[in-house]
Amino acid sequence: MLNGRELATFRKQLLGWFRQFRRDLPWRRTKDPYRIWLSEIMLQQTRVAAAVPYYERFLERFPGVPALAAAPQQEVLRLWSGLGYYRRARNLQKAAQQIVAKHGGQFPARWDDALALPGIGTYTAAAILSIAFGEKQAVLDGNVARVLARLGAIHGDIRESRRWQELQASADGLLEPKSPGDWNQAMMELGATLCIPKSPQCLLCPVAQFCEGRRLGIAESLPEKRKKRAAVDVILAAAVFLDENGWTLLLPAPSKENQSQESLAEYVPLLVSNLWHFPTVAGLRNPAAKLRAYLGKLIRGSRNRSLRFVPADEVHHTVTYRDITIKPSLIRVKRLPRIKGSERVQLNDISVLPVSNLTHKVARAARAALAAAASAAARR
Ligand code: SF4
Repeated sequence: MLNGRELATFRKQLLGWFRQFRRDLPWRRTKDPYRIWLSEIMLQQTRVAAAVPYYERFLERFPGVPALAAAPQQEVLRLWSGLGYYRRARNLQKAAQQIVAKHGGQFPARWDDALALPGIGTYTAAAILSIAFGEKQAVLDGNVARVLARLGAIHGDIRESRRWQELQASADGLLEPKSPGDWNQAMMELGATLCIPKSPQCLLCPVAQFCEGRRLGIAESLPEKRKKRAAVDVILAAAVFLDENGWTLLLPAPSKENQSQESLAEYVPLLVSNLWHFPTVAGLRNPAAKLRAYLGKLIRGSRNRSLRFVPADEVHHTVTYRDITIKPSLIRVKRLPRIKGSERVQLNDISVLPVSNLTHKVARAARAALAAAASAAARR
């Protein structure tokens, strides 16, 4: 607990450091709540360097809330494609539509109105409202919680509800009321650049003199690790059709109706994204046979039996606690089969449709198998 003088010094030193050393990021050059909101949503689960090009492309296409609200969802997902956690993009658009319907297209400045929007929790609301409108709300995310746990030498699982509330209370107590937007960004910046998970840079820290974790020599071990959920192995098999002109086919996000098919119901949550994907099935045992059977259901007639599966390299992907191995098969055909709802795309350019990173990885493996087959044929 800092006394009045210490608190004033703490705030002055942290803000001074932030204003001198902050990274120049595109969303820091604006007070437009839409742009700040977009950056906050993109930065959940995504690193700054990865988010920047997406942020710029997204704003070019959707420069404001009305454009985002009116866009086809496919277009929004396509521009999000590769960032992962697609629920963020869906919620973003739903919230934009609510903002148009209820707030005349202007992001609401009131706390309760912001919190009522899909995809906006207390952290995001505090970040947007403090930066865009100077609202006195302290942010608490993983970075800030780590800084606070170290400053106060707090032991235990910081995600545990009571402890999280205590951290929120300390964040509220530190907040500089004259510049809440800069203050919140300063706390986040400290967590992102100096007070990093491994090897915190205490020698460069502007508030090191107030840090109990550092004084006790335990800063690096805080916050204490949570128990990890055990990983679950998942095996998928995917079919990459390819015709003579380089076209392949993708299936749409499964509808409720086709999710009831066993094979789909198993793998849909793993593809997470409800996006376009290669025909895929799940199964720890003999996924290739399951894939053939699944294609048999999709493609009626004798064509299915004559399909030749060329295995491509396995693809590995992790989604939260699931370790996914996907076994792609390249299937060369004269003409693509007709599958209800499918779309034709060039294998070299599947991103004309919204697809997940997993689907991109499968496409890359199929292209590599194709190149290997071509060079083997040239040697013969
Ligand atoms: Fe983090 Fe070190 Fe600064 Fe403490 S002194 S807040 S551990 S960087």
